[in-house]
Amino acid sequence: MKFFTRSADKNSDVGTDKWKNKYLDLLDAHERLEKAYKEEHETLIKIIIRLSIVSSEVDAQLEPYLQRIRDHLKNGIDNRQLKEDLESLTKIIYQLKDLSSKGSIKAADTNLLFEFLLQRYTSSRQQKELTQLKESGQPLAEPRRLFAAIARIIESDPVDAGISRQHGENESSVRHSIDTSFVSAQLLKLLEKIKVPEAFEQKVQNVKQQLNAGATSHSLESILDSIISLLIEINTDNQPKKEEIDKFLAQITEQLAALSSAITDSNKTFKNVGLNRSKFDQSVSEQMSDLQYRSLQATQLESLQKAISSHIDKITREIQENKKKEAIELEKFQLHMERLNQKIQAMEMETGELKSKLVVANSRAFSDALTGLPNRLAYDNRLKYEIAHWQRYHTPLCLLIWDIDFFKKINDNFGHQLGDAVLKHVGRLFSENIRKTDFVARLGGEEFVVLMPNTRQLSAFQKAENLRDIIEKHQLNLNGTVHCITVSCGIAQLMKGDTYELIFERADRALYQAKKRGRNRCCMG
Ligand code: GH3
Ligand code: MG
Ligand code: MG
Repeated sequence: MKFFTRSADKNSDVGTDKWKNKYLDLLDAHERLEKAYKEEHETLIKIIIRLSIVSSEVDAQLEPYLQRIRDHLKNGIDNRQLKEDLESLTKIIYQLKDLSSKGSIKAADTNLLFEFLLQRYTSSRQQKELTQLKESGQPLAEPRRLFAAIARIIESDPVDAGISRQHGENESSVRHSIDTSFVSAQLLKLLEKIKVPEAFEQKVQNVKQQLNAGATSHSLESILDSIISLLIEINTDNQPKKEEIDKFLAQITEQLAALSSAITDSNKTFKNVGLNRSKFDQSVSEQMSDLQYRSLQATQLESLQKAISSHIDKITREIQENKKKEAIELEKFQLHMERLNQKIQAMEMETGELKSKLVVANSRAFSDALTGLPNRLAYDNRLKYEIAHWQRYHTPLCLLIWDIDFFKKINDNFGHQLGDAVLKHVGRLFSENIRKTDFVARLGGEEFVVLMPNTRQLSAFQKAENLRDIIEKHQLNLNGTVHCITVSCGIAQLMKGDTYELIFERADRALYQAKKRGRNRCCMG
């Protein structure tokens, strides 16, 4: 408040005016200083608040104390309260195991710390002790000891001992009390931890350079401001990109899933088209590897998008080309298969026909066309088999040779046709009346043979007589004429050392005997 106004009157008392003007000048100067102090005071509070926020990163234990200091500062400085808070904070700092997250302090940080302390604590004793401590090398290993040692050195001289009480010097003094190197180091750590998009790298580098160059308390505020605005910028810049990347990745995932199912389907369908498939698989695999490599290398979304899009385009084209190739191959393969199938079917038919022809030919070859009985060839095979069986098991075997009596007369009197009918009739009677295990064949003309396995000569004879009797009694009635047919039979049993021919000769000799003795009889050889 001014009680005087400045006098411009040149006639006024020179002495009084001089005193009055001098007083007013001083008052103006005081007001200016007061205004400047107020501004500086507010700035200082702001800085301390910001630094306390940054310092809380050092250790969570500090946070409640720093918060209390911030609260007090916001409501205006209460020296007594603030002193108490600072004392509590100092105690906690001493108790901290480490001020560094890794348990040691970097050399650069220590140098900055000592640089600050040597500037700040200027008494010759402090300078000497600080230099000794710095050169001892101890600081790097044990932060806790370091701070205890520093505390001892600086506590003995009050912090503000070297500060002039002169008002004009207040600003710089207070500002020097802020550990700018420590805050700078913490800010650098903070910036190292942040993943910065490429677009912001230069800005971050600039801030880092400022911090590394050694921020003064004056420049620290602007650095802090730029860091905060930079972080906000990065965050807002990242937000839409993150959503864009998420959307893009979802699209890629969808496309890759579709691609995978296309490959699976394709694999199922064209399982046999191996060569094309492996070439295609190799190509897709190369594309995928390249894509993965580019994705890792890509630092910007746009280039990543371009790389992925072009690869997916290429893979899609290759799938389409491959599908075309495989469709052609499949068509060829199907045609080939169809032809092959037709050939197989034709071959099957031919084989079937051949088989039945063979059966017919076989049966023709081994059977007699007139009577349907096995023929001489069949008899030959069967007799050879029975001889082999006998040689192995020594079971008895009899051979019976039959001959129709006076057959020539039948032919001559009634014709060949009736003779054929007689042959059929006799043949049927043989096959109907022998055992299933016996064998009958027409040898040719009016001669028949019967093989009786597992039968001795006497039994064979009895059976032969039975057959002969049957034939005699079964007269043949043809064209109103009854024909009585008789047969003669020679029997031989297989003997040791017999051959195919020998047994036949014995049976044939017996037949001759039967004819000789009057016919319609059976003789044993
Ligand atoms: P025997 O009582 O001594 O046996 O007198 P046979 O007349 O039966 O004997 P022979 O051997 O003199 O006559 C056999 C006749 O059988 C001669 C031949 O013409 C006739 N013959 C041979 N094969 C056939 C044939 O397939 N069909 C017909 N109808 N006759 C045949
Ligand atoms: Mg004969
Ligand atoms: Mg005869």
